[in-house]
Amino acid sequence: MDYYAGVDLGATNVRAVVAEDDGTTLGVSRRSTPRGPTGIDVTEGVLRTLREACGDAGIAPTEIVAAGIGSIGPFDLAEGAVIDPANLPDSIDRIPLTGPISKLIDSDEVYLHNDTNAGVIGERFHADRNPDDMVYITISSGVGAGVCCDGEIMSGWDGNAGEVGHCVVDPQGRLTCGCGRDGHWEAYCSGNAIPDFARLLAEDDPTISTNLPLEGPDFTAKDVFELAGEDELADYTIEQLAHWNAIGVTNVIHSFAPIVVSFGGAVALHNEELVVDPIRERVAEMVMTNVPEITVTDMGDDVVLEGALASALTGGTGDRKQL
Ligand SMILES: [Zn+2]
Repeated sequence: MDYYAGVDLGATNVRAVVAEDDGTTLGVSRRSTPRGPTGIDVTEGVLRTLREACGDAGIAPTEIVAAGIGSIGPFDLAEGAVIDPANLPDSIDRIPLTGPISKLIDSDEVYLHNDTNAGVIGERFHADRNPDDMVYITISSGVGAGVCCDGEIMSGWDGNAGEVGHCVVDPQGRLTCGCGRDGHWEAYCSGNAIPDFARLLAEDDPTISTNLPLEGPDFTAKDVFELAGEDELADYTIEQLAHWNAIGVTNVIHSFAPIVVSFGGAVALHNEELVVDPIRERVAEMVMTNVPEITVTDMGDDVVLEGALASALTGGTGDRKQL
């Protein structure tokens, strides 16, 4: 029997899954992502989690023939390592992944992807028609995409293809992105940005009434969605989010001609009616080429982990013909 593994390295948790060659899950494990002090501590946390998943499956790590990793970036792809991850302590400058996992499982078949690329691999693998042209878009604390175009998972020479959250949607650049540049999609529509966006809209038109705790320290995107239908500013913010999201998604569709666009990430998953349905409606009017099917992932929070496993099963592609 051949066994396969998927690993999801996030800023909060590390998860691993071990499966048979038909994808049937045999073992899983989850741990908190080590906060350092060094990147090697994070690597060891990943290896420990993978060993535990193997233990749960009742196999030795060396029985795994291939592993996929979906990880926070950015990467040094040639070295198979994460470099200076944004959401972990500054003392973590380098997290080697491909080499140590390869050594643990005694196989060179280790595929490293950023989390959105793992997402598109998983969505492609599990989609009905296993499409060659597909985009996965996450709207969570940030905004990003994984793109499969003509059957190729696009990573770019440095692994940074698909950073669509940093596309400019507002030429006036009124809000500044977490990356330091102005007017980016993510600066308006990510979970972290929505409170700033609501405050900006309130400043623009002080006649809009609201019970949102705009100046409160605990004001979050969740407050906006919870007051939908009951609060004028919340509704206006949700409508404006739909406007910027539709511009971003339309740009992605015109760039890559996907047949399916699948959404994930907490903001989209928890607010499908308020976030994804309005995108569907607007995009149908805004796209001049074929309008793709717009879906929400069935895999919820497992999409990166399942994508990492699908990568291991299909030589890094999500193409079921590679099984
Ligand atoms: Zn940006």
